[in-house]
Amino acid sequence: MSSFCKCETPPFHHINFVREELGEDQYGTEVALEPYKECNRVWLVYLIEEPHYANSGRWWRVLITPSERKNFISMLARQFIGNKDWCYIGGSFYNSQSQKKPDKSLFVEKGLTYN
Ligand SMILES: [Zn+2]
Repeated sequence: MSSFCKCETPPFHHINFVREELGEDQYGTEVALEPYKECNRVWLVYLIEEPHYANSGRWWRVLITPSERKNFISMLARQFIGNKDWCYIGGSFYNSQSQKKPDKSLFVEKGLTYN
C-alpha cells in the first residue's frame, strides 16, 4: 500500500493538487489538468455536472504523460480517457451506487465503464 502515491489513493483531496483549467470540451464538459504537488505527475480530470438532475455529478481522473500533455486540448479529453486502460471514477452519481463495494468503488479497468 505504501508504494502508492497519494495522488492515486482515493479519496482525492483538491488541496493537494494544482489545478489548470483547460476549458469546456465540445460536450460542454469541464476539463482540467491537476499536477500533484508531491510527485509532479499530472492527472487529467473530466467533470460532468448536470445541475438539473440530482446526484448527476461524475468525474474521471487519468494520468497524462508530459509528451501526451503537449498539444493536448480539451476537445480530446473524452477520447483520451476512453483509450486509456484504466482511470479513477467517482462523484455523487456513482457514490449512490457503490455502497456494495466501497473499497473498489472508484477504480475501473477500462475507459469510461463503471466496474
Ligand atoms: Zn503521485
